[in-house]
Amino acid sequence: MREELKQLIQLQRLDETLRKLQDTKQQLTKQIAEAQRSAAAEKQSLDDHTAEAKAFRKAMDKREGDLKELEGKINKLEVQLNTASSNKEYSTFQHEILGLKADKSRAEDDILKMYDQIESQQAQVKQSAQRLSEAEKAGLERKKSLEAGIADADARIEAMKKERAAFTQTLSPAFLEPYERLRKKGDGRAMAACRNYVCMGCRMSLTANTISLLMMGDKLITCQSCGRILFMAEGEDLTGIATAGRKDS
Ligand SMILES: [Zn+2]
Repeated sequence: MREELKQLIQLQRLDETLRKLQDTKQQLTKQIAEAQRSAAAEKQSLDDHTAEAKAFRKAMDKREGDLKELEGKINKLEVQLNTASSNKEYSTFQHEILGLKADKSRAEDDILKMYDQIESQQAQVKQSAQRLSEAEKAGLERKKSLEAGIADADARIEAMKKERAAFTQTLSPAFLEPYERLRKKGDGRAMAACRNYVCMGCRMSLTANTISLLMMGDKLITCQSCGRILFMAEGEDLTGIATAGRKDS
């Protein structure tokens, strides 16, 4: 194989490593956002529980207000009961008092139940706050470790880029330029191995003529289907077909 082609294969390996590092960096950046989302969800849950407990407290205050009002009415009616001017008036007051006492008893039951509920709601708020604090702590730690990973990837990307720049200086433009042009297209892989008469870049069969030209190794041969620069896969011995191709052409 021509030395230039070997160098291009080496360049493609370098570019592959670079691409993997960049992918890793992107993944880590995404994970930072995810780590923060978990804490944000706990914050939302705490806000919801706090709002719920506040609304409930308000409803309970109202019920306690109802109870006070009922007690006031009962007290007032009991005074009136003692000064009733007739039996009819007396029994009317008595009837009203009975009704109000039933209401009062219902209000007292409600308030007792509400006390139980408010306790469990407050416990929920406390648990939510605890979970938020844990999520924030975990998120921060995760972020720190992810940021360290990103810094490491950045340093390696920087070093690879320098290595690449130095390496491309040694390449002949006649080979480097088509490589760079192809690299900027599609998936960024400018070269493809030929294995079993097939281009490994696009899985299309290569013609005997293409393989024969590839075996001669005089110039850059590209795949007619995907356009990638072809090279013989390691251990590939197509001497027979190459000779046949040469005879045909
Ligand atoms: Zn191809």
